[in-house]
Amino acid sequence: MNRLAQVAVVLALGLAQTPAVCQAPGGGAAPSEAQTGPKAPPKGRQPKPYKDVITSEARTDRGLFAVHQIDDKVYFEIPPALLGAEMLWQTEIARTGPGAGFGGSPVGSRVVQWTRRGNTVYLCAVSHSLRGDGKTAIQRAVDASNVGPIVGAFPVEAEGENKAPVIEVTRLYAGDAAPVPAGPVLGGTPDSARSFLDRIKAFPTNIEARAVLTVNRSGPTGAAGMPGRGRSSQSAPVTAVAHHSLVLLPATPMAGRLFDSRVGYFTEEFSDFGNNENRVKSREYIARYRLEKKDPAAAISEPVRPIVYYVSREVPERWRRYVKQGIEDWNPAFERAGFRNAIVARDAPTEQEDPDWDPEDARYSVARWVAAPIMNAMGPHVHDPRSGEILSAHIILWHDVLKLCERWYFSQCAALDPRAQRLPLPEPLMGELLRYVVAHEVGHTLGLRHNHRASSAFTVAQLRSREFTEKHGVEASIMDYGRFNYVAQPGDGAWLLPKLGPYDHFAIQWGYGPIPGARSPE
Ligand SMILES: [Zn+2]
Repeated sequence: MNRLAQVAVVLALGLAQTPAVCQAPGGGAAPSEAQTGPKAPPKGRQPKPYKDVITSEARTDRGLFAVHQIDDKVYFEIPPALLGAEMLWQTEIARTGPGAGFGGSPVGSRVVQWTRRGNTVYLCAVSHSLRGDGKTAIQRAVDASNVGPIVGAFPVEAEGENKAPVIEVTRLYAGDAAPVPAGPVLGGTPDSARSFLDRIKAFPTNIEARAVLTVNRSGPTGAAGMPGRGRSSQSAPVTAVAHHSLVLLPATPMAGRLFDSRVGYFTEEFSDFGNNENRVKSREYIARYRLEKKDPAAAISEPVRPIVYYVSREVPERWRRYVKQGIEDWNPAFERAGFRNAIVARDAPTEQEDPDWDPEDARYSVARWVAAPIMNAMGPHVHDPRSGEILSAHIILWHDVLKLCERWYFSQCAALDPRAQRLPLPEPLMGELLRYVVAHEVGHTLGLRHNHRASSAFTVAQLRSREFTEKHGVEASIMDYGRFNYVAQPGDGAWLLPKLGPYDHFAIQWGYGPIPGARSPE
């Protein structure tokens, strides 16, 4: 499919499913007003000649939009075909100082849409929390109750080819006007004198930008509920680098898979008014990657696109191979679901190989290492709210997760494992412990929640059996907090570390296994 055709599909879907206040009324048929602007009297000042706005000084980068930079200002030139298309705005903290969150911490994401009305382009947030059937009268009622807020308005400064509006968007990055602003996470409003857009780059389906923001913190902060230690005092300034991704959402949303409370997946919840029952139904789609067989007829096939996790540049050399193993440990579960080599770990490209590669780029799933004395790890992801499709994920490893693993293993298994009878634990053993932590966090990024029932699934006799534990591991799921096998006794020779258990294999098969012939989530 060529690009224009793709864009047209996006528009059709976007308009059919998510009419918003910015769009032509009625939602469905006419894409005209959103794309072409006024039928009503023009609002706002008249656009200037193109060359007076985008001067010969401009540095231009062409991708999803043309991005023009002139001095410290940045302009978007939005092709009319993309007005009305749904995009995801995602914000992360890329770098920060001690006590103000951590590099790689997610701030949030939101579906947005650019729409033109007269000589103004509006940036609207799009809500998917109420849904109809997209075709009958109930859809109009849903549309009337589902209006997303306008988060920004930009005068059309000039017009490019095909009347593409040129708007100045600097404040989305250097100020706090982004649909997902970083200021609240940093604890204040950016001071314009000490905040600026550092760089911005356009790619075919996304625009990636970094801004340096300085806030005078008005209170304690902590991104994603994970504050660092050693918080600075309340009035101290904080400077951080915020990363913003604007990504065109997939032309065709992935088929949603309905949640079943017996299998613990993260979900996207919505109210369904388009069903035939005499009430609104609360429904949930599970979060999962889009995985499609290259050869749909084969029992086991390579995927069209594997799930790729990059090991970021800052992950210490000696731990990298264990991080990769923890990622690829999920492959046997995907084989049961019908996929070979479904999940792949790769080194992030070097600066020389790809200077534009960014771990915060919304297209990449990345394992990150954070220099902070926090004894934890986590696995957040971003998904398409229309379908639950996971678009990217992070595995965040704080440095002192090593200390935590060492303490646990020493206290739980020193009597059973001669390698654990002296501190510090040897590197190969620490690597295996880290591999376990990574596999657990990767499970979260694949959509899986915790399964704490798994720690009571095996009997004492089973946990003491070498044969049983070698085959099934030490708990029924690696998504448990069962930790290590302290039930086994010296001389049992039992397996001591968690690995993927029977539940994990089942859950991946249930969530990712293709359902031949399925035409709808039901
Ligand atoms: Zn967990």
